[in-house]
Amino acid sequence: MASLEIRLHGRGGQGGVTCAKILAAVWAGLGKSVQTFGDYAGERSGAPVRAYTRVSDEPIDDRNKVYEPHHLLVLDPTLLGEHVLQGLRPGGTLLLNTEEPIEAFGDRFLRHRLAVVDATAIARRRKIGTRSVVIVNTTIAGAFVRAAGLPFEALEAAYRRLGFTGNLDAAREAWDAVAIREARDVDAKAPVFAPPATAPVLPLVAHVEGAPTGLRTGSWRSQTPRYVHALAPCSAFCPAGNDVIGFVQAVAEGGAQQASEVLARTTPLAGVCGRVCPAFCMEGCNRREHDGAVDVRALERWIADTAPIAPRAERASAAPRRFAIVGGGPAGLSAAFELARHGHEATVFDGERALGGVLRTGIPSYRLPRAALDREIEALLALGVKTSLGAFLDRDRVAALAREWDAVILATGLQRLRGVTERDDLPGVEQGIRFLHRVNMEGSVRVTGHVVVLGGGNTAMDCARVAVRAGASRVTVAYRRGREEMPAIRDEVAEAEQEGVVFELLRQPLGFEGDERVRGVVLAEVELGPPDASGRRSPVVTDRRSTLSCDHVLLALGQTADLRLLPEGWALREGRAFARDAPVNVFAAGDLATGDGTVAHAIGDGRRVARLAMRAVGPELAEVEELRRPDRARAVAATEIRFDHFPKSPPLGERHVPADVRVRGFDEVNLGVGDPAAAAHRCCSCGECTRCDSCLVYCPEGIIRREAGGYAIDLEYCKGCGICVTECPRAAITLKTPKEMHA
Ligand code: SF4
Ligand code: SF4
Ligand code: SF4
Repeated sequence: MASLEIRLHGRGGQGGVTCAKILAAVWAGLGKSVQTFGDYAGERSGAPVRAYTRVSDEPIDDRNKVYEPHHLLVLDPTLLGEHVLQGLRPGGTLLLNTEEPIEAFGDRFLRHRLAVVDATAIARRRKIGTRSVVIVNTTIAGAFVRAAGLPFEALEAAYRRLGFTGNLDAAREAWDAVAIREARDVDAKAPVFAPPATAPVLPLVAHVEGAPTGLRTGSWRSQTPRYVHALAPCSAFCPAGNDVIGFVQAVAEGGAQQASEVLARTTPLAGVCGRVCPAFCMEGCNRREHDGAVDVRALERWIADTAPIAPRAERASAAPRRFAIVGGGPAGLSAAFELARHGHEATVFDGERALGGVLRTGIPSYRLPRAALDREIEALLALGVKTSLGAFLDRDRVAALAREWDAVILATGLQRLRGVTERDDLPGVEQGIRFLHRVNMEGSVRVTGHVVVLGGGNTAMDCARVAVRAGASRVTVAYRRGREEMPAIRDEVAEAEQEGVVFELLRQPLGFEGDERVRGVVLAEVELGPPDASGRRSPVVTDRRSTLSCDHVLLALGQTADLRLLPEGWALREGRAFARDAPVNVFAAGDLATGDGTVAHAIGDGRRVARLAMRAVGPELAEVEELRRPDRARAVAATEIRFDHFPKSPPLGERHVPADVRVRGFDEVNLGVGDPAAAAHRCCSCGECTRCDSCLVYCPEGIIRREAGGYAIDLEYCKGCGICVTECPRAAITLKTPKEMHA
């Protein structure tokens, strides 16, 4: 195709200008250069308007209206007349929106290819527009695509990109219904779709109709549009540092394997996080403001289960070093992952006989099946990570490692457990972490009678739900604040409740009753005062007391870092150890350093500290880039997303085994998302261009063209109107003033 010109006549309100843009989008999707604009100003509803579309294999520099169209669309038959038909080429297509059958036209328009369809009736039946104003644009486009000999799939794809899929059925009906009569009485030799003859260059003042030279408008503009890669909030909120928009879009476009490769650059534990993370990404997801967050966590899990994460070395280091990592939990594993990917030797030391740390000893298998954990650890070992297991290290051994290895990373988590009173050792009172360790590492542990769990975090929920499964006749969680203040993942609280766990809120434990064995917990009623340093309302203990009788108490009151592992005279400052004010190559990662308390935080911090350690061991490694947490404030805001382009479709959510079935054992409770592709397609791709063509077809100058991997704007003709920016559904294009461009 050299060049094709289309003119469209309609009335204000029928959507004629948008129809011209749809046609442009169809051809743009087929790789053509397009230009489209309307010819109207202050017209009111019902006034005649015209719109134009040009299509070409070459960049289009003709900026005139279309005077000699190859195709003419008339959206309202009352407009038919000589002035409307003017210029239509012999043999060109005349598509009419009319209720008349094609036979009713007798021998009218014989020199043209006539196509007729009752788009108004179709659109009215399908309730497109209002009862008084029927909008026919998306319907008649179906008839046009057929008359122009284009595949319906091309229109389908354009509607998908432009977010018009709700009107596809109407377009399909028009495609089926359009009647076509071929042209007669046309000189067989006359070119039907020949490009217009090139017009002579004329003075600007001359009133002309034809194809004059282009008028450069670039010098008028005060702002310039630019395509950008803006930060998506899901990625900004992920403490693990995952490229969240990257893996969600990869599911939508390429499937599990492509998405797995995106995840393998940032995490060795995607299948773990896809199960146990509180999903900070979903908290930040812009789609929450529209109809609910994208099911990111479930997608991460699905990817890892379908195409297991296979981390690869980025490069062989020119100066490989030896790093010792103390602690085989998420922070230690993540640090080892980062070091091995950079070509260094990483050995993980752990007192347990298997890697995983709290993932193995603390998290119950109904939340994290061991097969999922083992698979990811095996992949890490396949990357070359070494282990030394089965012996806990003391401070002397740490000091020896510091002397013998290039650097040491301590990732031992939070080992000091909080209690209630000095009677915490009363038989029947047990630290929840130890109870979970017994269940997870020694197999079947039975409890009987009434179990009271003290605490409101994830460990408390794990203890309560495990107690239900381990035989308790009744399980109560007592927590000193309200439900809103509970630090546990909300879904975990809801699931515990479904499984029969009872919550005693605003209760502070004061001590225990019982001589030989615990028989009750003394609780004080609590009122909530003003917010404390954590931002949550502070508990104010009252004099009102009660005793909750019980047979077993599990303490889940929190944990703190145990720094006794540090040699005498050493201290930690901002994650690095100092021996009497001199920095040593010993670093702390994860909860030990930050106390953030989630697997995702530990993964992010493990990688960050691994890079710090690499940069510290030798000047030749100084080029290793530091990892910083993304700045949430810089992320694309929901107010920048054009949600009208995204039809409402609530999240699919995760599927769960019914409560009465799941409490019978330790099989996985959460079954993940049912339709991952549909879940991924809900993503708006905040800040990242998806090549939807909206900017291209809405640009009134027709100066945006597709280029390999994106778009190019002919700035010689850009007047800086910003319509492309306004029309972009996902804030992937922005306007910059010359000053900002040079800032
Ligand atoms: S680690 Fe957590 S926050 Fe990050 S993508 Fe996975 S579920 Fe979301
Ligand atoms: S809609 Fe997609 S890109 Fe935007 S925040 Fe949510 S997951 Fe991320
Ligand atoms: S910049 Fe925006 S409007 Fe243009 S193609 Fe990309 S996503 Fe669509």
